[in-house]
Amino acid sequence: MKLYFASSNEHKKKEMSRLLGGYTLVLPKEEGIKFSAEETGNDFIANAVIKAEALYSIVHESVIADDSGLMVRALGGAPGVHTARYGEDEAKRKLTDREKYMLLLKNMEGKEDRSAVFVTALCLILSDERRYIIQETCEGMIAEKPSGTNGFGYDPVFYINEAHSISADLAEGEKDLYSHRGKAARLMKMLLDKEEGR
Ligand code: IMP
Repeated sequence: MKLYFASSNEHKKKEMSRLLGGYTLVLPKEEGIKFSAEETGNDFIANAVIKAEALYSIVHESVIADDSGLMVRALGGAPGVHTARYGEDEAKRKLTDREKYMLLLKNMEGKEDRSAVFVTALCLILSDERRYIIQETCEGMIAEKPSGTNGFGYDPVFYINEAHSISADLAEGEKDLYSHRGKAARLMKMLLDKEEGR
């Protein structure tokens, strides 16, 4: 089954292809399709739906979209849907991954509750009537200092409770077992396999 993936990010496509195994993901740009959608939703599901619907309205074929981020309890759920753009408003420029997680550590100074959760929402549209939404989580804690060299984003400061490890200390395949995206993608694969009669 061919699935259009509502993104322009090759890294994300590679990761999602690996997680879904056996399905051909196609980025709109690979077929010369101009696609962009403003992530104006108040939560991850709303943003995944916005992206999936925007692409589906163009291709009218099976579409998958994702949205994810980090919610820190002591910060009232921030950065949340703004995770990718954390700190940009004040700095008036894009921050590097390291700058973003160092800003998070600064904002966590003196906070007793360091619990946090990574969230991923996935939206699958098969036709006008048939749509699925999955949201999964990865529970953890914000570390006191960065560690590890694997992964991306906030991985060096995110301790995964279930893995008893900082995310950036885990190998790629190992992180998939526990990560929000890994869990959501495995459920999505079950749905797709059912669809394909596998
Ligand atoms: P996106 O919606 O998947 O692009 O995720 C938004 C932002 O959340 C990314 O830019 C990353 O900074 C962060 N993020 C999402 N998933 C992870 C993860 O597994 N590890 C570390 N950071 C992540």
